[in-house]
Amino acid sequence: MPELPEVETVRRGLEPVMAGAVIARAEVRRAGLRWPFPARMAERLTGARVERLRRRSKYILADLSTGETLLIHLGMSGRMLISGTMLGEFHHDHPAPEKHDHVVLHMDTGARITFNDARRFGAMDLFPTGEDDAHPLLARLGPEPLGNAFNERHLVAALAGRNTPIKAALLDQHIVAGLGNIYVCEVLHRAGISPRRKAGRIAAARAAALVPIIRDVLGEAIASGGSSLRDYRQASGELGYFQHAFRVYGREGAACATPDCTGTIRRIVQSGRSSFYCPRCQR
Ligand SMILES: [Zn+2]
Repeated sequence: MPELPEVETVRRGLEPVMAGAVIARAEVRRAGLRWPFPARMAERLTGARVERLRRRSKYILADLSTGETLLIHLGMSGRMLISGTMLGEFHHDHPAPEKHDHVVLHMDTGARITFNDARRFGAMDLFPTGEDDAHPLLARLGPEPLGNAFNERHLVAALAGRNTPIKAALLDQHIVAGLGNIYVCEVLHRAGISPRRKAGRIAAARAAALVPIIRDVLGEAIASGGSSLRDYRQASGELGYFQHAFRVYGREGAACATPDCTGTIRRIVQSGRSSFYCPRCQR
């Protein structure tokens, strides 16, 4: 499942192809994915210029010249494929349509952007630009982890008095938007905090220290996605998934990577999801 760094990587990959270009024709091949598409979506997209491509949490938002914003969510298995344009030194011809190509945007530049989603948990919607806070998927999101509103004061206050495990608190999208299971495991390992520790029982200084760690972990993953844009994507035309080395996620039974720690990574299940951590250096 793509998390914030993967979505940001997709956004950065789409930006040079979409921003400033006009959607000459939109092909909508089914009535919806996770939810029905908005009424007359193809018509409303056709002729629109993409003024700006932004991201909020795990949503890609394209502000259009028509006064509407196109929301794109990759869901569990959504992929964006670019064809008909130069990506670095590679040129991708338009591929034959595949079974799970649900929406195709034909840009006036000749580029084609295909949204392929085998499991159909993805979503697309249109809403009036500037009304992010009124959209049901965006309205109640907390601050962006890489933005200024997410700071030490905010996080310390949000965790204070909470009886839930810190793992669950960091996954709570009202506290911070866009953090998912994989990166929360990585953050807690780097912070030396057990995923089972009650959020309200973490001293303010340790809670505050989570802020720069969250920024670093996400920043490094985005940088790693950036290098994948330069090589891997250019060879395939596909955006979004990249190899990133995790310290704990998916490493049950492996030796802990913390210097001088002799611990072994364990997996436990919290709220139905796997947590990977080192019981020796995470307290
Ligand atoms: Zn350890």
